[in-house]
Amino acid sequence: MSRVNPLQRRGTGVPKNRAAIFGVVWEVRLLARWAEFAATLDAVARTSSKREKVQLLARYLRQLPEEALAVACTYLTGRVLPAGEADKLQMGWSTIVGVLQELSGATDREVSGLYLRWGDLGDVAAELVARRRTVPLFRQPLTLEGAHGWLRRAAAVRGKGASSARAAALRALLEQAQPMEAKYLVRVLTGDLRIGLKEGLLQEAVAEAFGVSPAAVRRADLLQSDLGQVACLARRGQLHTASLRYFHPFRFMLAGTLMEPGEPFAGAGEVLAEDKYDGVRVQVHREGDRLALYSRTLDEITDSFPELREALEGLSPAYIVDGEIVAWRGQGPAPFHRLQQRLRRLDPWAVAGEIPVVLFVFDLLKLGEDDLLDLPLAERRSRLERLRFSGPVRLATARRVRDPEALRECFRAARDRGHEGLVVKRLEAPYRPGRRGGLWLKWKEPFATLDVVVVGAEYGHGKRAGVLSDYTFAVWDGDRLRVVGKAYSGLEDLEIVQLTEFFLQHTVRDLGRFKVVEPKVVLEVAFDAVTRSDRHDSGYALRFPRILRVRADKAPQEASTLAEVEALYRRQRQV
Ligand code: AMP
Repeated sequence: MSRVNPLQRRGTGVPKNRAAIFGVVWEVRLLARWAEFAATLDAVARTSSKREKVQLLARYLRQLPEEALAVACTYLTGRVLPAGEADKLQMGWSTIVGVLQELSGATDREVSGLYLRWGDLGDVAAELVARRRTVPLFRQPLTLEGAHGWLRRAAAVRGKGASSARAAALRALLEQAQPMEAKYLVRVLTGDLRIGLKEGLLQEAVAEAFGVSPAAVRRADLLQSDLGQVACLARRGQLHTASLRYFHPFRFMLAGTLMEPGEPFAGAGEVLAEDKYDGVRVQVHREGDRLALYSRTLDEITDSFPELREALEGLSPAYIVDGEIVAWRGQGPAPFHRLQQRLRRLDPWAVAGEIPVVLFVFDLLKLGEDDLLDLPLAERRSRLERLRFSGPVRLATARRVRDPEALRECFRAARDRGHEGLVVKRLEAPYRPGRRGGLWLKWKEPFATLDVVVVGAEYGHGKRAGVLSDYTFAVWDGDRLRVVGKAYSGLEDLEIVQLTEFFLQHTVRDLGRFKVVEPKVVLEVAFDAVTRSDRHDSGYALRFPRILRVRADKAPQEASTLAEVEALYRRQRQV
């Protein structure tokens, strides 16, 4: 027998119901039980079939009342509140563990023992909730709407009382929760659901739930960055109305990597060569008397840069622009780490004088009520140029170029101005939120290059499926070779074919797709940074390695050494 209050039992997709009791008509809201949310997530976690994951979720989402649908979809994206909300729910590990200990009486030792066993705070919560010392007099079943109400109110508390408000909300919820409910409540709060569900599958599930195309859901989600709202639109058959909204940040368009200066001209007569600034990316929204700056993670960072406000307010009355904030010193940019200091400081006015910044604006995405995303860049840029730039808010430097030589010249000029290099943009390209591809290509001076020895070769994908085009490479550590990375080839097709033949003849261990090869071929690779890594036996990895050329002139013994890699690693830490 269920002890659930029938008034709180979830309905069958009808959000409201009417019940006549003693002649009075009550409007009863049907709420979505948390237990069912948790059971669905658990079922999704247990199957490895993507199709089944999508179907389980679709079936669940389809019958949720509207408010719960929005909440569930937001939670499924790993957030408690949609991106761009001014309120944040930061509920750290210590708050969660503290409340669990309070309810269960578990000691620090016990908690760490449990964590070691499970490796997940959600599982720890399930176990500790089962040991709760007191049982509430009236157990109210947890609902998505009810729990979300608690969390939202807790998120709205700022300043001193914030952490105790958060702990109180969590305590109220965990006092009522069953172990399985607690497990997923805690996973929602830590932003890690662990159910093997990538964003694409989630969008597919929403599409399947409401009989619309996954592409339409994806497009709407890219514009709104709020899957909860998107799911509600999908249910109402209104996905086509999804659009950019002020103060709802959306994902940034990203750049691919330029392999050589001729590349952008394939299929384009003219491209835009824009300075590449080394700072933090921002999306600025301005409308009415509100102004907000959002970071690449869609977090609001307005308060970190108060000195930009006046100039941004003067730019135009209502707009969304994309740009990069750079630390500034005298006439040119200062190193990136100066900017990091700004983001960390609590009193931004105090550091504004010490570490000034400039915002370079390079794209205009909305002006007044007009969405400009689908316009060609050339058109967006000319509208951008007509805004009123002043003070620390500047228009990004850009030039139209027609050939690789002019592009090289722009690159040198950008470097002379102290910037990283260029972002080369197709003039006819729309703005594609969240996309990284050939429409924008970044060209920056590599941090360094190394000569490395190929020790493994693997078949590629797509048109490279028949050739060994992915190379694992190493440097010398005494007389041993230690792996520092893997890159797919930026070499010419003919070179790859020749290398394939060579490697097939010099394979020492054949592992199917992957061949361990004799260390004979030396490549020059460029990369952006050296990172620590336990993936390779060297303990290091080159970040974003690109193969520049085959060093046929070098014998393997002349390749770079681990000591050089270590020196580069230390050097970058001192910059
Ligand atoms: P990277 O961080 O090297 O992958 O380079 C991509 C980043 O360059 C973008 O995410 C932006 O933050 C930054 N960037 C700097 N200048 C520009 C520009 N003119 N256009 C687009 N992105 C830029």
